[in-house]
Amino acid sequence: MFWLRWKTLSGSQCCFHCGHIADTMPLDVRTWDCPACGTQGIDRDIKAARNILQAGKATTRESSAN
Ligand SMILES: [Zn+2]
Repeated sequence: MFWLRWKTLSGSQCCFHCGHIADTMPLDVRTWDCPACGTQGIDRDIKAARNILQAGKATTRESSAN
């Protein structure tokens, strides 16, 4: 059952901010709002969220270097 739990936790319906797992939603819903922490516009694609995080870190690094 562990793989099933991991699948759920690493899925697109898990809030990347607080880890709250959203209820099931239609496949055509691309973004959702987390009712637990209030984060809005969470992309269903967790890779997109990670890309945004990486982009943010890169920006921070560049700005602090100046
Ligand atoms: Zn959340």
